[in-house]
Parts: sequence; C-alpha cells; structure tokens
Amino acid sequence: MRIVIIYVMLGSFLLQPVASMIKKSLVSLLALSALVSVSAQAQDNKTLNLYSARHYSTDEALYADFTKTTGIKINRVDADDAGILNRLRAEGTSSPADVILLVDAARLWRGEIDGLFAPVKSKLLDDAIPAQFSAKATPEGTLWFGFSTRARVVAFNKASVKREDVDTYEELADAKNKGKLCTRSGSHPYNLSLFGAVSEHIGAAKTEAWLKGMVSNMARDPKGGDTDQIRAVASGECAIGVTNTYYLARLMRSDKAEDKAVMDKVGIVFPNQSSWGTHLNISGGAMAKNAKNREAAVKFLEYLASPSAQKYFADGNNEWPTAKGMKIDNPALKAMLVGNGGDNFKAETIPSSVIGMNQVKVQQMLDRVGYK
Ligand code: FE
Repeated sequence: MRIVIIYVMLGSFLLQPVASMIKKSLVSLLALSALVSVSAQAQDNKTLNLYSARHYSTDEALYADFTKTTGIKINRVDADDAGILNRLRAEGTSSPADVILLVDAARLWRGEIDGLFAPVKSKLLDDAIPAQFSAKATPEGTLWFGFSTRARVVAFNKASVKREDVDTYEELADAKNKGKLCTRSGSHPYNLSLFGAVSEHIGAAKTEAWLKGMVSNMARDPKGGDTDQIRAVASGECAIGVTNTYYLARLMRSDKAEDKAVMDKVGIVFPNQSSWGTHLNISGGAMAKNAKNREAAVKFLEYLASPSAQKYFADGNNEWPTAKGMKIDNPALKAMLVGNGGDNFKAETIPSSVIGMNQVKVQQMLDRVGYK
C-alpha cells in the first residue's frame, strides 16, 4: 500500500502544479493513515467479531469466561443460521466476521460449499473433536468443527400411544400411526438434517416413501417449533411429535407447573436403538473466510473444545459435548435416557458432513410428496 501511495505522489510531482500536488498528496496521506488505523483496529486480535446463531442465554456465561481467560473482547451479532449465511454472502471481503457459530449440520455444510469459511489448522481441535462431527480435514485445515450434539427424538402421548409403536423413525410413517403425527416444517434445517441422515441409512427411494407416509399420518399441517410439538402432544392435539432433546430438557428443568404438567404426559423415545441408532445433529463453529482477527478466531474455536466451554454446552443448554473424554452431569439428559439405553444410548455414526450434503435431494423429495 505504501509503495502505491509513494508512486502516486511522485506522479503528481512530475505532472501537476505544486499547489494541486500538495493537496492531492495530503488527501492520499490522510487516506493512507485512515486505512492503517482501520486495519490496526481490525487485526489487533484483542477483539473477536462473532456471528452466532446460538440463541441460548447460557452462552453469555461462556463468552464472558473466554474474555476473562484471554482478554479478547467479543462483539456479537445474533441472527438465525440462514440470516448469518446471507449476511456473510452480502458482506463479502468486507465482512468483519471472524468466527461463525451455527446450530445445524445442513447449515454448516451450506457455509462450507458456498466458500464462506476459512480452513483452520489446529492440532488441539483435530485431537479434541472426533472426525464424525467436523468437516472433512484437508491439508489446508478443517472448515468447521461440531462442538455439541443434540439428538432428534420422538415425543409421544403416554395415554394414547404405545412406546413400541414409535421406537423407530420408520414407524412414524406406518399406517398404525395415522392422524397422530406433528412436526415443524419439513424444510426446517433440523428436519432436513434428520431426513438427510435417514436417506443415508435406508437409501433415497425408501426415504421418499417414508416422507410420503409421514405426510399422510399428520394430525395437522406442520407449524411452530419443536416445543410447540411437545405441547401439542401433551394436550392431545397430536399424539406423536419430533423434537431436539434440549427442548425436552428445558421443559423438564422448568420450575413452571404448566411445563411439569406437559412433561408428565409425554414419553420420550430415542429411536432406532436396535438398528442404526438415534440421529444426532450438531452445533458447530468455523473461522470466517475473510476473518481479520485470525489468531483470536483460532483461540476462540479452541476454547470451545475446552472442558469449561464444553461444560457450558452440556449443563447450560442441555447438549452433549463432542470433545473426547468429557463427562457430563446433566440431570435432565440423564432422566430422559432412562429406558433409552442410558449414557451409552446408540447414536448414529455417519459423518455430520454427509448429513448436510443430503439436504438438497431431501428438499426435492419434500416438494414431491407435499411435506410442507
Ligand atoms: Fe433450536
């Protein structure tokens, strides 16, 4: 940059009257100093610009702990997964984002193929996070890391549904469950990832037939979030719902009498314990393609794999930590695993990256079978 400015100054000196030259040089110098100060500010690695789709209040404590430990201040932008990806695309090279946190495998995969992430080379992260939960490692590094998992399970009304009628995902499409099923929109990333996983386990043709069967089993058109499905199962509007585990755990840990009443009526099944296992989705993070505070970004990602951060995920938001060797002690997660295989419940073992990759063909299936 300096060389260019000096060249401009020399050019001015030779070709233009002195007054005009001085004026232009001053403008150039001012522009240069402004640029230097902006870049010094942007790359000081004392601040970290975080775009986060994790909308969980307990994460505040996690960010505060990071700042206390490292002295690096976090500027946070909160939006949902789609909003963050759109913003990164729109901002391009001028994006201030250093780290991105997303809450779904399909979205992480989308960010990866759209070229929004920078590869990270970190022995600490490669050692701590199992390959199943990260993007495929390349010689340049790894594009994203999953830091916590959540299972996508079945919630059923204990009074009207037998547990053995809903202990596989496949049975959600069985005629015996006609008029009982409620889910959020099929196109929601949590469902796209579940359906993408199912298509990996049983193949595309069977998955499409399965989705069609689910559509004809619906008690109502898909709407609302996971918690709405749980409440509808308890009220009897639906008998069977599909939900991420942390929504169940939140209700189980709630002090409100109405939430306790809901969970009294609801049974929980971790499906497919005797076949390919329960579907796991992830929440994960990546360094932004155009990150300025790269050192701070890697530090933050490494921090998320540390025991204290992993404990925040597990205890605060009722998720399972991905880092190797972590023990969790979450009463709600423990309680919901009673009768579901305990701490060693069978989870699927396919890579999260493959689950994300299947979202496009799954969306096409949803359109064909009319799954709203
Ligand atoms: Fe969620």
